[in-house]
Amino acid sequence: MKTRISIQKKVLSENDRLAQQIREELDNRSIVALNLVSSPGAGKTSLLEETLRELSGKINIGLIAGDVQTENDANRLLAAGGRRVMPLVTGGACHLDAKMITSVLVEFELDQLDLLVIENVGNLVCPAGYDLGEDMKVVLISTTEGDDKPLKYPAMFRRSRVMVINKIDLLGTSDFSLEQVKSNAARINPELKIFETSCRDGTGLEAWCSWLVGLVDKAAGLRKSKKLHQH
Ligand code: MG
Repeated sequence: MKTRISIQKKVLSENDRLAQQIREELDNRSIVALNLVSSPGAGKTSLLEETLRELSGKINIGLIAGDVQTENDANRLLAAGGRRVMPLVTGGACHLDAKMITSVLVEFELDQLDLLVIENVGNLVCPAGYDLGEDMKVVLISTTEGDDKPLKYPAMFRRSRVMVINKIDLLGTSDFSLEQVKSNAARINPELKIFETSCRDGTGLEAWCSWLVGLVDKAAGLRKSKKLHQH
């Protein structure tokens, strides 16, 4: 048992080292990077499809579509107008790690990216432990799940900066309580920024997209001031 723990520690510190390299590489180019996590079926790909439809012409978005099997999600993102989409099939692993991200990052022309979104494997446990070099984790929960998810998977909600509550159009069709999920989330992480969205009727997508544009604008401002300092 002891050996197992120390091996796991070693794997994680190697992951952290690689994640830090990725973070520096993205930071140098002022690229905003998000690690999108959720249970399977909460709507990560749907949210990204809508995001692409709204923002494709406005900012340059790179997407890494992680899945255990199939490139279905990557294909959906391409069909939604994604021009820079890389599938990342783990072949069984329940999470993405920094080494996998490093291996696909070379496929992007990083100088042309404003925003990189990594769609993680659908799972609220393992992805919590792996830094991918992102600026922040965004956790998605849908109204078709239990509103106690934040309490059941506290590590994920603690490590996320943002919570998106998706399928808001289905509120009232189950026992899911919006108030309850918010108070559960606040118990774990009072700092969480919250969006409420529906990819079917468009609720909240404008707020979500303008927040993303705001992040990108802020990073671009930093990029400019960095260049000024260099000259
Ligand atoms: Mg997906």
